Amino acid sequence: MTKDATPQPVRSTKGADDPGPRNVELDLQNPDLLVPPETDSGSLPNLKFPFSMAHNRLEDGGWAREVTLREFPVAKSMAGVNMRLGPGVVRELHWHKEAEWAYILQGTARLTVVDPEGNLSIDDLTPGDIWLVPAGVPHSIQGMEEGTEFLLVFDDGKFSENETLLITEYLAHTPPSVLAKNFGVTSDDFADIPTAEKYIFRLPVPQPLDAVRRLLPNSPPPLSYVFHAAQIPAQKYMGGSVKTVDAHNFPVTTLSALIIEIEPGGMREMHWHPDADEWQYYIEGEARMTVFDATSKARTFNYRAGDVGFVPRTLGHYIENTGTTPVKVINVFNSRFCTDVSLNRWMALTPPDLIRGHLNLNETVMKALRQTRQAVVR
Ligand code: MN
Ligand code: MN
Repeated sequence: MTKDATPQPVRSTKGADDPGPRNVELDLQNPDLLVPPETDSGSLPNLKFPFSMAHNRLEDGGWAREVTLREFPVAKSMAGVNMRLGPGVVRELHWHKEAEWAYILQGTARLTVVDPEGNLSIDDLTPGDIWLVPAGVPHSIQGMEEGTEFLLVFDDGKFSENETLLITEYLAHTPPSVLAKNFGVTSDDFADIPTAEKYIFRLPVPQPLDAVRRLLPNSPPPLSYVFHAAQIPAQKYMGGSVKTVDAHNFPVTTLSALIIEIEPGGMREMHWHPDADEWQYYIEGEARMTVFDATSKARTFNYRAGDVGFVPRTLGHYIENTGTTPVKVINVFNSRFCTDVSLNRWMALTPPDLIRGHLNLNETVMKALRQTRQAVVR
């Protein structure tokens, strides 16, 4: 079969052609669903949801779409939002019940956070940078000159971007006499407040950071809510690289992350996470992942830029680059520290007779086992 030929659900003597009706574009994007590897077995929940399949909320100068429990039922522990804000466009001052982790994809975003101690954080973030806003802490986001696009991950699958606590709605739903008393002014002073949310709306591009900071007290939080991950080096491996951003280097965070690049021919090695679910966002390239669960269950999914993947806690998995360009994928974990069990290292550190007795491996495999962890291999 040539690459451009219509794929058929045939594997050697198994299967038969699909005369249609069929959606060939989706079949081409999901070759391991159409013709699963022979090792796939049993039923696993769906572990892929493209943002392209998510309803997009178009607003004045920006948009937002979300992949939550409603779209992606397996992802009970985390939800994601993909948002675009044009130049100057604001995501309204708000807070929510969940912690918010963010990764900048394009442009520059200005994040403003005021925490319960009255500490003030105003920062401009560029691609690769990360923030963590704890649950309940108020914040806003604004696109700078070239606008911005970013990914948000929340630590509850039930989160909805459309159900946050907004400053406009809080004031609109408080008696004006109470507002007057609260601020020490008169009710008439609130005659012009909006009666409904603003959510995403246009403002002029704000002044440079230094000018805005000078207007306000210099009281940054003792633990920064912002992590300039773009400025830290990646751990290099044969076949790719990994940046780890967790509470070791970003102490405020309650969600941890790996930023993984996998070269063509490379693979994130077989492993699992003992204490966290893995929420994935694919930034570049084409990849596949098989997830293994008890008992004898395995299913393989294909991913590309804009897709979300999910791996429940403790289930075995790898991520293989199946394309001709690098894969870039973000893994977000609902734990403060990134931890994983490497299959290879586990086997290398187990008495060899015990391993041989289980798996009948020859000496070539036994000698290839590595006692040092290689997160990405080729
Ligand atoms: Mn938020
Ligand atoms: Mn993983």
